Parts: sequence; structure tokens; C-alpha cells
Amino acid sequence: MQRVAPRVITRIAELRDWRRELLLNREKLGFVPTMGALHSGHLDLVEKSLSMASRTIVSIFVNPAQFAPNEDLDSYPRTLESDLQKLGSRVDVVFAPSVNEMYPRGITTQRSSQVGTFVEVLGYSHQLEGLTRPHFFRGVATVVSKLANIVQPDFIYFGQKDIQQAVVLERMFTDLHFNLKMVISPTVRAEDGLALSSRNVYLSTEQRRLAPCLYQALSEMKRLAQHGDKVGKLKQAAIAIINEAAAKATTFEIKIDYIECVDPRNLQPFPDDTVVNTNSAILVGAIFNGTTRLIDNLVLGDLQKLVGS
Ligand code: AMP
Repeated sequence: MQRVAPRVITRIAELRDWRRELLLNREKLGFVPTMGALHSGHLDLVEKSLSMASRTIVSIFVNPAQFAPNEDLDSYPRTLESDLQKLGSRVDVVFAPSVNEMYPRGITTQRSSQVGTFVEVLGYSHQLEGLTRPHFFRGVATVVSKLANIVQPDFIYFGQKDIQQAVVLERMFTDLHFNLKMVISPTVRAEDGLALSSRNVYLSTEQRRLAPCLYQALSEMKRLAQHGDKVGKLKQAAIAIINEAAAKATTFEIKIDYIECVDPRNLQPFPDDTVVNTNSAILVGAIFNGTTRLIDNLVLGDLQKLVGS
């Protein structure tokens, strides 16, 4: 009989039973961790898994540990029913645990009050996103460790959209000897170039109209890098494009958080007076579009070779 919805599992013990069966049957399991509010970017990761593994599991869990107290944990879109419809019968299982199931001894977003086990990936987590969100990668690394430990996937899928997250997690999987292969999939974009994100629903009509300026800025950086221009010039050009969009905003402000050209090996920014190797660099940026923070990046070189495991 054709399944119309995936099996939803909320308990770790039940998931482990299901996983054991797959192992006995020598099935290969692909795993797509998400926070839900699924869009085509997530579904693209699912397609990758379906093409590589005989079974696919998606997790939907809004992880408190990666939010700061002043961030959008409470308002983050939670749309389990429509997420299940979007997945339809394509995936085998959706793992949707409660916060209590994942953090049985509790979790607070107040970092100074947190107790227990957390995973930190030093040297990769404090720059770029880490400057504005110092708590973020610790929360992500911790929850992905827990999830990977529970699911025991053969393959795990992440999006290029969150490139620093991918680099941080690749390092974590390697350092902690996780027995899995990490696959990074290119960013899925709207027609005007805006990277799809669950948080795009926060954008007003005018904010949405101007939001592609970040992608336009990064695309110009790429063009100039391929032309052999120095990093300083790339950044200046990007800043000018974003400022031009900012000048058009009438009801809100567009502000640059960071624009950088970084080394994929360590995420350190290249100095302004360098000419980058066009096979090994990441152009990365973040802006505040009103109160919504948008991030994006373009990779110069082979994404999977530069970042994947
Ligand atoms: P999230 O639900 O935002 O935590 O994202 C779950 C996974 O989907 C992460 O690996 C993201 O990098 C990936 N992802 C989110 N947006 C996109 C996108 N536009 N294109 C490709 N992957 C994405």
C-alpha cells in the first residue's frame, strides 16, 4: 500500500529500535536534520539523500540551545503538519522529539546558567556568525552530536546556505570520529537570487523586494575575484551594492553585519591586499534587513572537496 505520510517518531528508544532493524537488513540510512518550516532548500537535501541511501530520515527539532535569550525561539515558525505533507511518502521517518526528550535534564538559553555536556568546535565558531551569535555553534554542535548519536546515519546532509555551520560540523565529525559521511548541497534560491530560508516569512513586502541585495553583492565579489581583483576591492564593491539597496528602503533599515572573503580551511578572512585563489575561497556575508538577519555565501572552488568529509 502506498504511504501518504512518513512515520513520525518522537521517542529516542523507538527510533533506536527502527534503526537496529535497518542495520540488520544492511540498509544505508541518509539523515537530514532540520528545524522544520520546510522549503525547497530542505527538500533538495531530502532528494540528495533519496538518491544516495536506501532509507531517509528527516528530523524536525527547534533546538533551544542555539538561540540566545533575545532571539526568536518562541516565534520561530513551527509547521509540523504542513512539513509532513511536503515530505509526503518520500521519506521513511520524521523524527520530531520534544525538548524534554532531547534535553531530559532541561536546557536554558541563558548560557551562563547552562550545566551538563556541550560540544564546542574551537577556532571555527567565534568569527563571522559567531561574532553576532556567540552561543550559536555550541548549540548546533551539541544538538547535531546528539541527533547523529541517536540516528547513527551513514550519510548526513547539510546546506551550503549555512556554510560556517557545515565547516564547524565537518571538523566536529572528524575530531570526534563520527562514523558517517557528510554531504553538502548547494544553496537553493528564489528566482531573484535570495537564498531560501525559514526566516524569510518574517520579511515585509518591501524587505523581501530588497533582500536579494546580499546575493547581488556576493555575485559581484565573485566576478571581481575571477577577474583577479584584490579582496579589499571585492568588499568595497559588495558594500556599495548593499548601501544602494539600503538607500531605497523607506520603512526599515538595511545594515551590513559582515562581508568577508575567507579561507575555507579555517574560515579566517583573507587580508584586503590579497588576490585569492579562485579555486579555494568563500565569499560570505550577513545583513540586517529590518530586524531579520539574512546570511548567504558563494564558494569559489569545489564545495564538497573544500568542506565535505
Ligand atoms: P534549518 O531548518 O534552517 O536548520 O536548516 C536545515 C538544513 O537545511 C541545514 O543544513 C541548512 O543549511 C539547509 N538549508 C536551509 N536553507 C537552505 C537553502 N536555501 N538551500 C540549501 N540548503 C538549505
